[in-house]
Amino acid sequence: MNISMPNWLMQRAFLTPDRIAVQYDGEKKTFSELHNAALKRARQLAGLGISKGDIVALLMKNSIDMIEVIHALHYIGAIVLLQNTRLTSRELAWQLQDSQAKYLLVDDEMVERINDFSYIRMVKISELFFLPEQECRLQHEYHLDDTATIMYTSGTTGKPKGVLQTYGNHWWSAVGSALNLGLRETDCWLAAVPFFHISGLSILMRSVIYGMSVYIMNGFDAKQANDILIQGKATIMSVVSTMLQQMLSELGERTYPDTFRCMLLGGGPAPKPLLEACRNKGIPVYQTYGMTETASQIVTLAPEYSFTKLGSAGKPLFPAQIRIENNGQIARPNEPGEIVVKGPNITKGYLNRPDATKQAIKDGWFYTGDIGYVDEEGFLYVLDRRSDLIISGGENIYPAEIEAVLLSHKAVAEAGVTGMADEKWGQVPCAFVKLQEGCAVTAEELIDFCKEKLAKYKVPKQIYFVEELPRNAAKKLLRRKLAELIPKNGETK
Ligand code: ATP
Ligand code: MG
Repeated sequence: MNISMPNWLMQRAFLTPDRIAVQYDGEKKTFSELHNAALKRARQLAGLGISKGDIVALLMKNSIDMIEVIHALHYIGAIVLLQNTRLTSRELAWQLQDSQAKYLLVDDEMVERINDFSYIRMVKISELFFLPEQECRLQHEYHLDDTATIMYTSGTTGKPKGVLQTYGNHWWSAVGSALNLGLRETDCWLAAVPFFHISGLSILMRSVIYGMSVYIMNGFDAKQANDILIQGKATIMSVVSTMLQQMLSELGERTYPDTFRCMLLGGGPAPKPLLEACRNKGIPVYQTYGMTETASQIVTLAPEYSFTKLGSAGKPLFPAQIRIENNGQIARPNEPGEIVVKGPNITKGYLNRPDATKQAIKDGWFYTGDIGYVDEEGFLYVLDRRSDLIISGGENIYPAEIEAVLLSHKAVAEAGVTGMADEKWGQVPCAFVKLQEGCAVTAEELIDFCKEKLAKYKVPKQIYFVEELPRNAAKKLLRRKLAELIPKNGETK
Protein backbone atom coordinates (compact mmCIF):
# COMPACT_ATOMS: atom_id res chain seq x y z
CA MET A 1 0.00 0.00 0.00
CA ASN A 2 1.45 3.32 -1.05
CA ILE A 3 0.58 5.59 1.87
CA SER A 4 0.42 9.30 1.17
CA MET A 5 0.75 12.23 3.52
CA PRO A 6 0.74 16.01 3.14
CA ASN A 7 3.80 17.61 1.54
CA TRP A 8 6.10 18.09 4.54
CA LEU A 9 7.22 21.69 4.13
CA MET A 10 3.73 22.83 3.06
CA GLN A 11 2.21 21.14 6.12
CA ARG A 12 4.91 22.55 8.40
CA ALA A 13 4.39 26.07 7.02
CA PHE A 14 0.66 25.64 7.67
CA LEU A 15 1.06 24.24 11.22
CA THR A 16 3.86 26.40 12.63
CA PRO A 17 4.55 29.15 10.07
CA ASP A 18 6.48 31.51 12.34
CA ARG A 19 8.98 29.11 13.82
CA ILE A 20 12.55 29.56 12.65
CA ALA A 21 13.31 26.89 10.04
CA VAL A 22 16.88 27.79 9.24
CA GLN A 23 19.67 30.11 10.34
CA TYR A 24 22.85 30.84 8.47
CA ASP A 25 25.45 33.54 8.83
CA GLY A 26 23.08 36.04 10.45
CA GLU A 27 20.22 35.21 8.05
CA LYS A 28 17.04 33.55 9.37
CA LYS A 29 14.01 32.10 7.62
CA THR A 30 10.74 30.92 9.14
CA PHE A 31 8.93 27.86 7.78
CA SER A 32 6.46 30.16 6.08
CA GLU A 33 9.28 32.10 4.39
CA LEU A 34 11.02 28.87 3.42
CA HIS A 35 7.79 27.57 1.88
CA ASN A 36 7.30 30.77 -0.12
CA ALA A 37 10.88 30.62 -1.36
CA ALA A 38 10.53 26.93 -2.30
CA LEU A 39 7.31 27.72 -4.14
CA LYS A 40 9.00 30.43 -6.18
CA ARG A 41 11.99 28.18 -6.95
CA ALA A 42 9.62 25.34 -7.93
CA ARG A 43 7.97 27.61 -10.50
CA GLN A 44 11.35 28.70 -11.82
CA LEU A 45 12.54 25.09 -12.07
CA ALA A 46 9.32 24.15 -13.84
CA GLY A 47 10.12 26.93 -16.31
CA LEU A 48 13.30 25.03 -17.18
CA GLY A 49 11.17 22.05 -18.12
CA ILE A 50 11.75 19.98 -14.97
CA SER A 51 8.77 17.79 -14.17
CA LYS A 52 7.68 14.90 -11.92
CA GLY A 53 10.01 11.92 -11.95
CA ASP A 54 13.00 13.73 -13.51
CA ILE A 55 16.35 13.08 -11.87
CA VAL A 56 17.99 16.42 -11.06
CA ALA A 57 21.57 16.47 -9.80
CA LEU A 58 22.72 19.06 -7.25
CA LEU A 59 26.32 20.08 -6.79
CA MET A 60 26.04 22.55 -3.95
CA LYS A 61 27.52 23.42 -0.59
CA ASN A 62 25.40 23.81 2.55
CA SER A 63 23.36 27.00 2.27
CA ILE A 64 19.79 28.25 2.54
CA ASP A 65 19.71 28.24 -1.29
CA MET A 66 20.44 24.52 -1.27
CA ILE A 67 17.61 23.83 1.19
CA GLU A 68 15.17 25.85 -0.92
CA VAL A 69 16.19 24.03 -4.08
CA ILE A 70 15.80 20.57 -2.49
CA HIS A 71 12.28 21.42 -1.27
CA ALA A 72 11.42 23.09 -4.58
CA LEU A 73 12.36 19.95 -6.52
CA HIS A 74 10.20 17.89 -4.17
CA TYR A 75 7.32 20.35 -4.71
CA ILE A 76 7.51 19.43 -8.42
CA GLY A 77 7.99 15.72 -7.73
CA ALA A 78 11.52 15.56 -9.16
CA ILE A 79 14.09 13.16 -7.72
CA VAL A 80 17.07 14.93 -6.17
CA LEU A 81 20.50 13.42 -6.79
CA LEU A 82 22.90 14.82 -4.20
CA GLN A 83 26.51 14.92 -5.30
CA ASN A 84 29.58 15.16 -3.13
CA THR A 85 31.33 18.46 -3.87
CA ARG A 86 34.72 16.87 -3.12
CA LEU A 87 34.47 14.42 -6.04
CA THR A 88 36.88 14.83 -8.93
CA SER A 89 35.50 15.94 -12.31
CA ARG A 90 35.79 12.35 -13.51
CA GLU A 91 33.88 10.93 -10.57
CA LEU A 92 31.17 13.55 -10.95
CA ALA A 93 30.80 12.83 -14.65
CA TRP A 94 30.57 9.11 -13.97
CA GLN A 95 27.75 9.61 -11.44
CA LEU A 96 25.86 11.94 -13.78
CA GLN A 97 26.01 9.40 -16.56
CA ASP A 98 25.30 6.41 -14.35
CA SER A 99 22.21 8.10 -12.91
CA GLN A 100 21.05 9.50 -16.26
CA ALA A 101 20.24 12.76 -14.54
CA LYS A 102 18.60 15.23 -16.92
CA TYR A 103 19.65 18.45 -15.19
CA LEU A 104 22.50 19.64 -13.03
CA LEU A 105 22.08 22.58 -10.69
CA VAL A 106 25.45 23.83 -9.59
CA ASP A 107 26.88 26.46 -7.26
CA ASP A 108 28.62 29.08 -9.43
CA GLU A 109 32.00 28.46 -7.81
CA MET A 110 31.93 24.80 -8.88
CA VAL A 111 31.01 25.20 -12.54
CA GLU A 112 34.51 24.52 -13.82
CA ARG A 113 34.42 21.12 -12.11
CA ILE A 114 32.10 19.90 -14.84
CA ASN A 115 34.26 19.35 -17.91
CA ASP A 116 31.80 18.00 -20.38
CA PHE A 117 28.16 18.79 -19.86
CA SER A 118 26.99 18.25 -23.42
CA TYR A 119 24.82 15.38 -22.19
CA ILE A 120 23.15 17.32 -19.40
CA ARG A 121 21.37 20.63 -18.97
CA MET A 122 23.53 22.56 -16.52
CA VAL A 123 22.16 25.59 -14.66
CA LYS A 124 24.10 27.84 -12.31
CA ILE A 125 22.32 28.74 -9.09
CA SER A 126 22.80 32.47 -9.76
CA GLU A 127 21.01 32.02 -13.12
CA LEU A 128 18.21 29.95 -11.63
CA PHE A 129 17.25 32.77 -9.30
CA PHE A 130 16.56 35.12 -12.22
CA LEU A 131 14.55 32.69 -14.33
CA PRO A 132 10.89 33.47 -15.00
CA GLU A 133 8.31 31.53 -13.03
CA GLN A 134 5.90 29.13 -14.66
CA GLU A 135 2.71 27.68 -13.20
CA CYS A 136 3.22 24.01 -12.40
CA ARG A 137 1.50 21.06 -10.80
CA LEU A 138 2.61 20.92 -7.21
CA GLN A 139 2.85 17.76 -5.17
CA HIS A 140 0.48 18.53 -2.32
CA GLU A 141 0.98 14.98 -1.12
CA TYR A 142 4.04 12.79 -0.79
CA HIS A 143 3.69 9.08 -1.53
CA LEU A 144 5.91 7.19 0.86
CA ASP A 145 7.04 4.64 -1.76
CA ASP A 146 8.18 7.34 -4.20
CA THR A 147 11.89 8.04 -4.51
CA ALA A 148 12.74 11.41 -2.97
CA THR A 149 16.52 11.39 -3.25
CA ILE A 150 19.40 9.45 -4.72
CA MET A 151 22.74 9.41 -2.99
CA TYR A 152 25.79 7.46 -4.07
CA THR A 153 27.55 5.36 -1.43
CA SER A 154 31.01 6.59 -0.52
CA GLY A 155 32.74 3.98 -2.69
CA THR A 156 34.90 2.70 0.15
CA THR A 157 34.61 -0.97 -0.77
CA GLY A 158 34.10 -0.66 -4.52
CA LYS A 159 32.46 1.55 -7.11
CA PRO A 160 29.81 3.81 -5.56
CA LYS A 161 26.19 2.69 -6.00
CA GLY A 162 23.20 5.03 -6.31
CA VAL A 163 20.94 4.44 -3.33
CA LEU A 164 17.22 5.11 -3.83
CA GLN A 165 15.88 6.88 -0.74
CA THR A 166 12.10 7.10 -0.60
CA TYR A 167 9.95 9.62 1.26
CA GLY A 168 9.04 6.70 3.53
CA ASN A 169 12.73 5.99 4.27
CA HIS A 170 13.25 9.62 5.33
CA TRP A 171 10.00 9.68 7.30
CA TRP A 172 10.79 6.57 9.30
CA SER A 173 14.37 7.63 9.83
CA ALA A 174 13.17 10.94 11.34
CA VAL A 175 10.51 9.19 13.46
CA GLY A 176 12.97 6.55 14.68
CA SER A 177 15.46 9.23 15.70
CA ALA A 178 12.82 11.28 17.55
CA LEU A 179 11.56 8.22 19.43
CA ASN A 180 15.11 7.76 20.66
CA LEU A 181 16.40 11.29 21.25
CA GLY A 182 13.06 12.91 22.05
CA LEU A 183 11.93 16.30 20.78
CA ARG A 184 12.11 19.63 22.59
CA GLU A 185 10.44 22.80 21.44
CA THR A 186 13.77 24.61 21.88
CA ASP A 187 15.75 22.13 19.77
CA CYS A 188 18.07 23.45 17.10
CA TRP A 189 20.31 21.08 15.12
CA LEU A 190 23.75 22.29 14.10
CA ALA A 191 24.38 21.10 10.54
CA ALA A 192 28.14 21.15 9.91
CA VAL A 193 28.06 17.84 8.02
CA PRO A 194 27.27 18.22 4.30
CA PHE A 195 23.70 17.93 3.02
CA PHE A 196 24.99 15.70 0.21
CA HIS A 197 25.65 12.99 2.82
CA ILE A 198 22.76 11.31 4.55
CA SER A 199 24.02 12.60 7.92
CA GLY A 200 23.34 16.15 6.67
CA LEU A 201 20.26 15.59 4.53
CA SER A 202 18.51 13.74 7.37
CA ILE A 203 18.78 16.92 9.49
CA LEU A 204 16.78 18.81 6.84
CA MET A 205 14.13 16.10 6.73
CA ARG A 206 13.83 16.11 10.54
CA SER A 207 13.59 19.90 10.50
CA VAL A 208 10.38 20.00 8.44
CA ILE A 209 8.90 16.87 10.02
CA TYR A 210 9.56 18.02 13.62
CA GLY A 211 9.22 21.78 13.09
CA MET A 212 12.78 22.20 14.31
CA SER A 213 15.32 24.86 13.50
CA VAL A 214 18.57 24.07 11.68
CA TYR A 215 21.73 26.12 12.14
CA ILE A 216 23.86 25.74 9.02
CA MET A 217 27.61 25.76 8.70
CA ASN A 218 29.09 25.84 5.23
CA GLY A 219 32.13 23.71 5.90
CA PHE A 220 33.27 22.65 9.34
CA ASP A 221 35.34 24.83 11.62
CA ALA A 222 36.01 23.58 15.17
CA LYS A 223 36.23 27.02 16.76
CA GLN A 224 33.08 28.30 15.09
CA ALA A 225 31.19 25.11 16.02
CA ASN A 226 32.34 25.35 19.65
CA ASP A 227 31.33 29.01 19.83
CA ILE A 228 27.86 28.21 18.51
CA LEU A 229 27.40 25.44 21.09
CA ILE A 230 28.86 27.43 24.00
CA GLN A 231 26.54 30.34 23.21
CA GLY A 232 23.60 27.92 23.48
CA LYS A 233 22.55 28.46 19.85
CA ALA A 234 22.16 24.72 19.13
CA THR A 235 21.06 21.76 21.24
CA ILE A 236 22.06 18.85 18.97
CA MET A 237 24.94 18.37 16.55
CA SER A 238 25.90 15.59 14.11
CA VAL A 239 29.62 14.84 13.85
CA VAL A 240 32.12 12.28 12.58
CA SER A 241 35.01 11.39 14.86
CA THR A 242 37.61 13.72 13.28
CA MET A 243 35.27 16.69 13.81
CA LEU A 244 34.69 15.73 17.42
CA GLN A 245 38.40 15.28 17.99
CA GLN A 246 39.13 18.78 16.68
CA MET A 247 36.31 20.32 18.71
CA LEU A 248 37.54 18.63 21.86
CA SER A 249 41.08 19.97 21.50
CA GLU A 250 39.82 23.44 20.59
CA LEU A 251 37.43 23.45 23.56
CA GLY A 252 40.24 23.37 26.13
CA GLU A 253 38.93 24.02 29.64
CA ARG A 254 35.57 25.33 28.48
CA THR A 255 32.36 23.25 28.56
CA TYR A 256 29.07 23.21 26.71
CA PRO A 257 25.96 24.49 28.50
CA ASP A 258 23.40 22.01 29.90
CA THR A 259 21.03 22.96 27.08
CA PHE A 260 23.36 21.11 24.69
CA ARG A 261 21.92 17.63 24.81
CA CYS A 262 23.28 15.44 22.03
CA MET A 263 26.45 14.98 20.02
CA LEU A 264 25.39 12.41 17.41
CA LEU A 265 28.56 10.61 16.36
CA GLY A 266 28.52 8.39 13.28
CA GLY A 267 29.98 7.67 9.87
CA GLY A 268 32.66 5.26 11.01
CA PRO A 269 34.35 3.67 13.99
CA ALA A 270 34.81 5.87 17.04
CA PRO A 271 38.22 5.69 18.76
CA LYS A 272 37.81 4.67 22.41
CA PRO A 273 40.20 7.36 23.77
CA LEU A 274 37.98 9.97 22.12
CA LEU A 275 34.84 8.50 23.69
CA GLU A 276 36.57 8.39 27.08
CA ALA A 277 37.73 12.00 26.80
CA CYS A 278 34.17 13.12 25.95
CA ARG A 279 32.78 11.12 28.82
CA ASN A 280 35.23 12.77 31.22
CA LYS A 281 34.22 16.19 29.96
CA GLY A 282 30.51 15.42 30.25
CA ILE A 283 29.85 15.74 26.51
CA PRO A 284 26.68 13.76 25.77
CA VAL A 285 27.91 11.58 22.88
CA TYR A 286 25.41 9.27 21.18
CA GLN A 287 27.37 6.75 19.12
CA THR A 288 25.52 5.63 16.02
CA TYR A 289 25.79 3.12 13.22
CA GLY A 290 24.17 3.66 9.88
CA MET A 291 24.79 4.05 6.16
CA THR A 292 23.47 5.67 3.01
CA GLU A 293 21.17 2.66 2.55
CA THR A 294 19.53 3.10 5.98
CA ALA A 295 18.78 6.82 5.47
CA SER A 296 21.01 7.74 8.46
CA GLN A 297 21.29 6.05 11.90
CA ILE A 298 19.71 2.64 12.42
CA VAL A 299 21.49 1.77 15.69
CA THR A 300 22.28 4.30 18.43
CA LEU A 301 23.82 4.19 21.91
CA ALA A 302 22.30 6.49 24.49
CA PRO A 303 24.72 8.26 26.89
CA GLU A 304 23.36 6.36 29.93
CA TYR A 305 25.20 3.34 28.51
CA SER A 306 28.37 5.19 27.62
CA PHE A 307 30.10 3.86 30.77
CA THR A 308 28.92 0.27 30.68
CA LYS A 309 28.88 -0.20 26.90
CA LEU A 310 31.76 2.00 25.80
CA GLY A 311 32.59 1.21 22.18
CA SER A 312 29.17 -0.20 21.34
CA ALA A 313 27.10 1.39 18.58
CA GLY A 314 23.98 0.68 20.68
CA LYS A 315 20.59 -0.86 20.01
CA PRO A 316 18.34 -0.50 16.97
CA LEU A 317 16.00 2.46 16.70
CA PHE A 318 12.39 1.60 17.55
CA PRO A 319 11.19 0.79 13.98
CA ALA A 320 14.29 -1.29 13.14
CA GLN A 321 15.74 -4.73 13.86
CA ILE A 322 19.25 -6.14 13.62
CA ARG A 323 20.70 -9.61 13.60
CA ILE A 324 24.09 -11.16 13.06
CA GLU A 325 24.47 -13.92 10.48
CA ASN A 326 27.23 -16.45 10.11
CA ASN A 327 27.08 -18.84 7.16
CA GLY A 328 23.33 -18.32 6.85
CA GLN A 329 22.73 -19.02 10.57
CA ILE A 330 21.83 -16.48 13.22
CA ALA A 331 24.94 -16.04 15.36
CA ARG A 332 25.00 -16.54 19.12
CA PRO A 333 25.62 -13.54 21.42
CA ASN A 334 29.22 -12.30 21.14
CA GLU A 335 29.83 -14.36 17.99
CA PRO A 336 30.97 -12.15 15.06
CA GLY A 337 29.17 -12.30 11.73
CA GLU A 338 27.60 -10.05 9.10
CA ILE A 339 25.36 -7.29 10.41
CA VAL A 340 21.91 -7.66 8.81
CA VAL A 341 19.26 -4.98 9.32
CA LYS A 342 15.56 -4.49 8.65
CA GLY A 343 13.23 -1.52 8.93
CA PRO A 344 11.11 0.98 6.99
CA ASN A 345 14.09 3.37 6.74
CA ILE A 346 15.99 0.93 4.51
CA THR A 347 16.34 1.57 0.78
CA LYS A 348 14.23 -0.28 -1.76
CA GLY A 349 17.40 -0.80 -3.78
CA TYR A 350 20.19 0.58 -5.91
CA LEU A 351 19.57 2.65 -9.03
CA ASN A 352 19.82 0.50 -12.19
CA ARG A 353 21.56 -2.31 -10.24
CA PRO A 354 19.04 -5.15 -9.93
CA ASP A 355 21.79 -7.68 -9.20
CA ALA A 356 23.40 -5.63 -6.43
CA THR A 357 19.92 -5.01 -4.98
CA LYS A 358 19.09 -8.72 -5.03
CA GLN A 359 22.38 -9.54 -3.37
CA ALA A 360 21.92 -6.95 -0.63
CA ILE A 361 18.23 -7.34 0.19
CA LYS A 362 16.81 -10.77 0.96
CA ASP A 363 13.37 -11.31 2.51
CA GLY A 364 13.28 -7.66 3.53
CA TRP A 365 16.63 -7.92 5.37
CA PHE A 366 19.54 -5.75 4.21
CA TYR A 367 23.02 -7.31 4.27
CA THR A 368 25.35 -4.47 5.27
CA GLY A 369 28.71 -6.06 4.39
CA ASP A 370 29.89 -5.04 7.87
CA ILE A 371 31.00 -7.48 10.53
CA GLY A 372 30.00 -7.15 14.15
CA TYR A 373 28.50 -8.93 17.09
CA VAL A 374 25.66 -8.40 19.51
CA ASP A 375 26.16 -8.98 23.25
CA GLU A 376 23.71 -10.84 25.53
CA GLU A 377 21.70 -7.64 26.05
CA GLY A 378 21.40 -6.84 22.34
CA PHE A 379 24.04 -4.10 22.06
CA LEU A 380 25.82 -4.00 18.71
CA TYR A 381 29.60 -3.83 18.37
CA VAL A 382 30.83 -3.05 14.84
CA LEU A 383 34.12 -4.76 14.06
CA ASP A 384 34.90 -3.98 10.45
CA ARG A 385 33.93 -4.36 6.85
CA ARG A 386 33.74 -7.93 5.59
CA SER A 387 35.83 -7.09 2.52
CA ASP A 388 38.72 -5.80 4.66
CA LEU A 389 38.98 -8.85 6.90
CA ILE A 390 42.48 -10.35 7.11
CA ILE A 391 42.59 -14.11 7.52
CA SER A 392 45.90 -15.20 9.01
CA GLY A 393 46.50 -18.87 9.72
CA GLY A 394 42.74 -19.39 10.05
CA GLU A 395 42.30 -16.49 12.51
CA ASN A 396 40.13 -13.50 11.60
CA ILE A 397 41.87 -10.17 12.06
CA TYR A 398 39.95 -6.89 11.96
CA PRO A 399 42.12 -4.02 10.64
CA ALA A 400 40.04 -1.49 12.61
CA GLU A 401 41.15 -3.04 15.90
CA ILE A 402 44.83 -2.66 15.01
CA GLU A 403 44.29 0.86 13.66
CA ALA A 404 42.62 1.84 16.93
CA VAL A 405 45.65 0.63 18.90
CA LEU A 406 48.08 2.50 16.64
CA LEU A 407 45.96 5.65 16.90
CA SER A 408 46.17 5.51 20.68
CA HIS A 409 49.96 6.11 20.37
CA LYS A 410 50.64 9.81 20.84
CA ALA A 411 52.97 10.05 17.81
CA VAL A 412 50.41 8.60 15.39
CA ALA A 413 48.05 10.92 13.50
CA GLU A 414 46.50 8.41 11.10
CA ALA A 415 46.79 4.66 10.61
CA GLY A 416 45.62 2.17 8.00
CA VAL A 417 46.00 -1.60 8.15
CA THR A 418 45.72 -4.20 5.42
CA GLY A 419 46.81 -7.78 4.76
CA MET A 420 50.04 -8.73 2.98
CA ALA A 421 50.85 -12.13 1.52
CA ASP A 422 52.80 -14.46 3.76
CA GLU A 423 54.11 -17.93 2.90
CA LYS A 424 53.42 -19.42 6.29
CA TRP A 425 50.16 -17.74 7.39
CA GLY A 426 48.55 -16.89 4.05
CA GLN A 427 48.19 -13.26 5.10
CA VAL A 428 49.64 -11.11 7.86
CA PRO A 429 48.71 -7.55 8.86
CA CYS A 430 50.86 -4.60 7.88
CA ALA A 431 50.29 -0.97 8.80
CA PHE A 432 50.65 2.42 7.16
CA VAL A 433 51.17 5.28 9.56
CA LYS A 434 51.13 9.03 9.24
CA LEU A 435 52.90 10.68 12.17
CA GLN A 436 51.75 13.73 14.12
CA GLU A 437 53.68 16.81 13.09
CA GLY A 438 56.95 17.11 14.96
CA CYS A 439 56.74 13.56 16.38
CA ALA A 440 59.23 10.77 15.78
CA VAL A 441 58.93 7.07 16.47
CA THR A 442 60.51 4.00 14.88
CA ALA A 443 58.67 1.05 13.35
CA GLU A 444 60.15 -1.20 16.06
CA GLU A 445 58.82 1.06 18.81
CA LEU A 446 55.33 0.98 17.30
CA ILE A 447 55.50 -2.80 16.91
CA ASP A 448 56.50 -3.11 20.60
CA PHE A 449 53.60 -0.81 21.52
CA CYS A 450 51.20 -3.10 19.59
CA LYS A 451 52.67 -6.21 21.26
CA GLU A 452 51.58 -4.85 24.65
CA LYS A 453 48.00 -4.43 23.51
CA LEU A 454 47.30 -7.07 20.88
CA ALA A 455 47.54 -10.84 20.53
CA LYS A 456 50.71 -11.84 18.68
CA TYR A 457 49.01 -12.74 15.39
CA LYS A 458 47.42 -9.26 15.21
CA VAL A 459 50.68 -7.35 15.60
CA PRO A 460 51.63 -5.73 12.24
CA LYS A 461 54.60 -7.46 10.65
CA GLN A 462 55.61 -4.29 8.83
CA ILE A 463 55.00 -0.63 9.47
CA TYR A 464 55.38 1.87 6.64
CA PHE A 465 55.52 5.59 7.28
CA VAL A 466 53.60 7.69 4.74
CA GLU A 467 52.75 11.36 4.21
CA GLU A 468 49.15 10.65 3.26
CA LEU A 469 46.74 7.74 3.49
CA PRO A 470 44.50 7.00 0.48
CA ARG A 471 41.02 8.36 1.19
CA ASN A 472 37.85 8.88 -0.85
CA ALA A 473 35.78 12.04 -1.21
CA ALA A 474 34.04 11.20 2.07
CA LYS A 475 37.53 11.19 3.66
CA LYS A 476 37.16 7.48 4.42
CA LEU A 477 40.25 5.31 4.41
CA LEU A 478 40.53 3.18 1.26
CA ARG A 479 42.11 0.01 2.60
CA ARG A 480 41.92 -1.70 -0.80
CA LYS A 481 44.35 0.97 -2.06
CA LEU A 482 46.76 0.31 0.83
CA ALA A 483 47.57 -3.11 -0.61
CA GLU A 484 48.90 -1.35 -3.74
CA LEU A 485 51.33 0.64 -1.57
CA ILE A 486 53.06 -2.41 -0.16
CA PRO A 487 56.62 -2.17 -1.46
CA LYS A 488 57.75 -5.01 -3.70
CA ASN A 489 61.08 -6.74 -2.90
CA GLY A 490 61.47 -4.83 0.31
CA GLU A 491 61.84 -1.44 -1.42
CA THR A 492 60.04 1.44 0.21
CA LYS A 493 57.92 3.55 -2.09
P1 ATP B 1 30.54 1.80 -0.14
O1 ATP B 1 29.24 1.18 0.28
O2 ATP B 1 30.47 2.39 -1.52
O3 ATP B 1 31.74 0.95 0.08
P2 ATP B 1 30.47 3.27 2.37
O4 ATP B 1 29.89 2.01 2.92
O5 ATP B 1 31.69 3.81 3.04
O6 ATP B 1 30.77 3.10 0.81
P3 ATP B 1 28.51 5.01 3.55
O7 ATP B 1 27.10 4.62 3.36
O8 ATP B 1 28.85 6.46 3.55
O9 ATP B 1 29.36 4.38 2.38
O10 ATP B 1 29.09 4.45 4.91
C1 ATP B 1 28.47 3.48 5.70
C2 ATP B 1 29.51 2.59 6.34
O11 ATP B 1 30.29 3.31 7.33
C3 ATP B 1 28.94 1.42 7.12
O12 ATP B 1 28.54 0.35 6.29
C4 ATP B 1 30.11 1.06 8.04
O13 ATP B 1 31.09 0.28 7.37
C5 ATP B 1 30.70 2.43 8.36
N1 ATP B 1 30.16 2.87 9.68
C6 ATP B 1 29.11 3.65 9.91
N2 ATP B 1 28.91 3.80 11.25
C7 ATP B 1 29.87 3.08 11.87
C8 ATP B 1 30.19 2.80 13.23
N3 ATP B 1 29.52 3.33 14.25
N4 ATP B 1 31.24 1.98 13.48
C9 ATP B 1 31.95 1.44 12.48
N5 ATP B 1 31.70 1.65 11.18
C10 ATP B 1 30.67 2.46 10.86
MG1 MG C 1 28.46 0.71 2.09
